[in-house]
Amino acid sequence: MGEVNLTDVRKEYEDVVAVEGMDLTIEDGEFVTLVGPSGCGKSTTLETISGLTTPTSGTIEIAGRDVTTKPPKDRNIAMVFQNIALFPHMTVYENISFGLRLRNFDKEEIDRRVENAVEIVQLEGMLDRSPDELSGGQQQRVGIARAIVREPDVFLMDEPLANLDAKLRVAMRTEIQRLQKELGITSVYVTHDQEEAMTMSDRIAIINDGQLQQCSPPLECYNRPVNTFVAQFIGSPSMNLFDGQVAGEALDVGDFSVAYDTTGTPLVDGDRVTLGVRPEDIYLADDAGDIAHPSTPVAVTVDVLEPVGDQTYAYLLAETDGETTELLMSIDPDKEISEDDTIEVVFSRDDVHVFDGAGDAVVHSLVDPSAAADDVTVEGEA
Ligand code: ADP
Repeated sequence: MGEVNLTDVRKEYEDVVAVEGMDLTIEDGEFVTLVGPSGCGKSTTLETISGLTTPTSGTIEIAGRDVTTKPPKDRNIAMVFQNIALFPHMTVYENISFGLRLRNFDKEEIDRRVENAVEIVQLEGMLDRSPDELSGGQQQRVGIARAIVREPDVFLMDEPLANLDAKLRVAMRTEIQRLQKELGITSVYVTHDQEEAMTMSDRIAIINDGQLQQCSPPLECYNRPVNTFVAQFIGSPSMNLFDGQVAGEALDVGDFSVAYDTTGTPLVDGDRVTLGVRPEDIYLADDAGDIAHPSTPVAVTVDVLEPVGDQTYAYLLAETDGETTELLMSIDPDKEISEDDTIEVVFSRDDVHVFDGAGDAVVHSLVDPSAAADDVTVEGEA
């Protein structure tokens, strides 16, 4: 059993609280990614699991054992880092088997484990090579094989793909995912890249300022973000956020207003709110017939068009009374619109998110009452 349990973990350095109130359970065999902006406490959290750091308070359990103050060697974990640090003067075989030889495993057992690991990471026939005869991706696989031979309860990976070029990174992502499923080893993966987190994980733990914001499956984070931080962090390009307030049976956002009856929600007339709309949930008013519940059309000017192939990002400006609101929509590249055009757009009211004055989600649809944020099961919500 490789379950990992963090209970109320706090790590303070002299003048910084790096991690605070961290409650997180990673199930046996699960792949959880810690993601968030630089400096948010991802690596520190991982280090408390690996034993490279002792938390100031709180407990860490691995496979049912309290390991809070145990050194890394007593935790049955294996780590893969961004900097793979292979020994240059050793062969692939010697690099992979190094830890086992250090622990005096017998030759037969070492060979069995190395053979198995090499097959999993597809490095067969390369055991006699030295690291400088390998590509970056192959070196990374040696690093992973070195972790596999340990047969750990838990894999800990800190930005292991950060040094690889973009194409290889995408290929290695798939490989790590396949491998993790094949081995079924509990894995905790750190990245600052939300796309990497979205594509690889069973669940994503989004951290901001040392605090866990949400830990949910990728699409739940995307479709039901618990607050404006998660809403903006997950998804590229980011969700549009508009400041506004409740005004009668509508949410008023300066230049435009979206009909919404707040009865049954905690919101009352005059409350500050933030409206969130993903770029793909904005449509040309001409296409409003394609969606079930379009909002009232808003006139906007096309500021910049950014074609990316399968879609075009249109940066739009809504202007009234000298106030400018920026919107980003993604649009079918076949649509005939040009920069400086004035066009009318609508939102899909089924997909508009509403956040309260503190930035916490109230509802994830203006139409479907079952999309209330309270329905979301959130672990360790901040
Ligand atoms: P991330 O991995 O999300 O980039 P870190 O966990 O490395 O963030 O760091 C979280 C915070 O803790 C940052 O403010 C960082 O400067 C601080 N920090 C990390 N390690 C140390 C350390 N050894 N001494 C002092 N401060 C540290």
